[in-house]
Amino acid sequence: MENDLKTDDSVNCLSGVGGARKALLERLSIRTIGDVLMHVPIRFLDRRSIVPIAELCLGTDTVVGGRIVSVARKFRGRGPSLTAVLSDETGSITLTFFRSGFPGSKLHEGMQVVACGTVESFKGYTIVHPELYFSKEAATAVDAPGMLPIYGLTAGLTQGAMRKLTAAALGAVKNSLVDILPVNVIEAAGFSRRWDVFRAAHRPDSPEEGRSARDLLALEELFLYRSVLTAVRKKSSTQPGIPLSSISPEDFECTLPWPLTSAQKRVCRDVHSDMSGRFPMRRLIQGDVGSGKTVVAAFACVVTALAGKTAAVLAPTEVLAAQHYRSMCEFCGRFHLEVHLLTGGTTGSERKKIAERLLENPQSVLIGTHAILENWIPLDELALLVIDEQHRFGVSQREKLLASRTPRPNALVMSATPIPRTLAMTFYGDLDISVIDKMPPGRGFTQTQVVDKSGKSDVFRFMLARLREGERIFLVYPLREASEQSDLRDATTAYETVRNGPMAEFGTALLHGSMPPGEKVAITQKFSRGEISVLVSTTVIEVGIDVPEATVMVIVNAERFGLSQIHQLRGRVGRGGRNAWCFLVPGEGVSHTSLERLNLLVSTSDGFIIAEKDLSVRGPGQVLGTVQHGIPKFKVAELSTDGKLLRAVSDLSPIPLQDIQQLLKSQFWRYGDTELPGV
Ligand code: ADP
Ligand code: MG
Repeated sequence: MENDLKTDDSVNCLSGVGGARKALLERLSIRTIGDVLMHVPIRFLDRRSIVPIAELCLGTDTVVGGRIVSVARKFRGRGPSLTAVLSDETGSITLTFFRSGFPGSKLHEGMQVVACGTVESFKGYTIVHPELYFSKEAATAVDAPGMLPIYGLTAGLTQGAMRKLTAAALGAVKNSLVDILPVNVIEAAGFSRRWDVFRAAHRPDSPEEGRSARDLLALEELFLYRSVLTAVRKKSSTQPGIPLSSISPEDFECTLPWPLTSAQKRVCRDVHSDMSGRFPMRRLIQGDVGSGKTVVAAFACVVTALAGKTAAVLAPTEVLAAQHYRSMCEFCGRFHLEVHLLTGGTTGSERKKIAERLLENPQSVLIGTHAILENWIPLDELALLVIDEQHRFGVSQREKLLASRTPRPNALVMSATPIPRTLAMTFYGDLDISVIDKMPPGRGFTQTQVVDKSGKSDVFRFMLARLREGERIFLVYPLREASEQSDLRDATTAYETVRNGPMAEFGTALLHGSMPPGEKVAITQKFSRGEISVLVSTTVIEVGIDVPEATVMVIVNAERFGLSQIHQLRGRVGRGGRNAWCFLVPGEGVSHTSLERLNLLVSTSDGFIIAEKDLSVRGPGQVLGTVQHGIPKFKVAELSTDGKLLRAVSDLSPIPLQDIQQLLKSQFWRYGDTELPGV
């Protein structure tokens, strides 16, 4: 029978879905019946009542009904078009069709139609490409009057087909759905059971009901994600780990050129107690750029290698990998540990050598980009994986790598993005968190200033003065190249100006993300050696450069960046003892609110306050950075707009381990294309 299918059954099981339809649905990432249900409408047409034409309002979605009084074809401007005039007792409106949307010969004078769409103004009121209903069709069950869902589609799939499909999916799972959110939460939102929520998401009685059903599904998704992470953590804290306790934080500190800050000491102790414990470490270290996370990672690597095991450090870019390599050589060199660097640019023979060395002497530290995870690398003795910039590397990727090994290696994740608590509970629930909330001494003070139009020439003179003092400058642009779609400034054009201007004599270079990695590393090294003093770039410098002489950063079109992002960027200057300056140059016509937002950066250097502001203004997506790398793409929840749901998620207690195991077994659930990690 078709009416007790499960959400994880294939769409094939629904009648009317054959191979061709299945392939079309695949393009929308719809593979299962659950996927159909989670493919919620992008909006609704309110067809509960037909609006008299005289009462139409511009810009609203509307439904009109009446008689076609004329049909005319035209060939002008954008090519052939067709207009029909629809009249009721109160007035007339035109219906406009361009070539791709011609209703064919179906539309003719004298016929009765119902037309749905958005009222626009073009030589009077018109609806472009309305959905048309001729009375017979309008009477069928799926298209019965009421709220009409409008879905995101792909070529070859019609709204009608999608509506039939969701109706079939709703019917199919009516008796088999398992609630995920607690019943009281479902009821508080005005629904009886999970099925009712799906019903209302697709066929609501009112636009408001549709919206609250959609929000509840988004909440469910985030709640499930959080529950899975919590379960991952519970599970991993019962698996045998690799207890390591070769050296204490105090003994390690003695080998350093400077004492650890109190925050670094505290975090090193957290790490030490995790690593010496029976269960695998899963810890996130949060700390602003420059707070000194690297030395904590180095401590963990030294503990590992001194115990005879391999430590691996995974960096998101070659530039950063190379920098970690230099730091690690310094920190580990005193213990006579071998340190290897392996990136995409490492040659075949070098790779072979590294592999041989690792086999002979597993007691070492391997640093690199994703290349270090390729399976020809002998990591049999892997006991620690350090991941820098977690948000670029997903939980499932990490656990796939670690959970398959017995005993399970330790994991230490480092992030420069301060993550507000509500976000951390949902998205980092699988990790224990330590915060480095204090900067090492000897840092200069970084002054941030918003520059208005009249101040630009002052900034320019100031930059030349700093360059003459032997200091270095970053110029950051939102775009790599000029684009016709945008009047934002771009790095390539700016670079042309810079290298032909007075700053040229100090050495200039352009740096952007799509350069070959080797070139990026070379430019960065020239910048840190001082052969280049002015670096014109996109945000690639966000993670990666530690140059004490860099004292000035100018961020152009600053209103286009997230506050947290700017905060990270400015952490790249003032890393030596000297004072530093960050100039924010907004674009012309920037709004008052944007300016106010930027001024927060002038008044505070507390990354958590800045992140909270980003969270409330621009949503969690902004705070979490390059979301697609670390956090799955949800089907309903939208990280840029669903920030308000996070508090609700963190207020719920996660589904207990044994229940979620059962739940995931009975309904296999995917987020986008990412499988949930094995619990
Ligand atoms: P991040 O947290 O951004 O990774 P780093 O680990 O790169 O920061 O540290 C920033 C700079 O501060 C480095 O040059 C590092 O050598 C220095 N540093 C780190 N800890 C201390 C400390 N306790 N005392 C003095 N300098 C330190
Ligand atoms: Mg770092």
